[in-house]
Amino acid sequence: MRLHTEDNVMVIKGRDRGKQGRVTKILHKEDKVMVEGVNIVKRHTKATGGVRQGGIIQKEMPVRVCNVVLVCPGCTKPARIGYRFLADGSKARVCGKCEEVIE
Ligand SMILES: [Zn+2]
Repeated sequence: MRLHTEDNVMVIKGRDRGKQGRVTKILHKEDKVMVEGVNIVKRHTKATGGVRQGGIIQKEMPVRVCNVVLVCPGCTKPARIGYRFLADGSKARVCGKCEEVIE
C-alpha cells in the first residue's frame, strides 16, 4: 500500500473526481481507502416502530486505491510516488515532481 492514513489525496476517477480529502482508514485486503468527505452515499431509512426516525443517512464509502492519487505536501500537486532509501536504510516515499520526501 502506497498510501498512509492522514495522507491528503485527490480523486482522479468517478463521481468525486477532483475532490481532495484526508485518508482516514486503509482497507488493505480490499485495496481501498476511506477518504474524508469523498464517496458519500445517501441512504434513505424508514422509521421503524416509532423508535428510530426515518430520514437520509450520509455514509462515507471506501474508494479504490487506483482511483486516488497522493497530493504532495511539498508542492501541493497530485504526485507520482517514488521510493528512495534514506541514510538510515529506511524506505521513504518521494514526490515524483519536487522530489520532496513525503512523511
Ligand atoms: Zn511534490
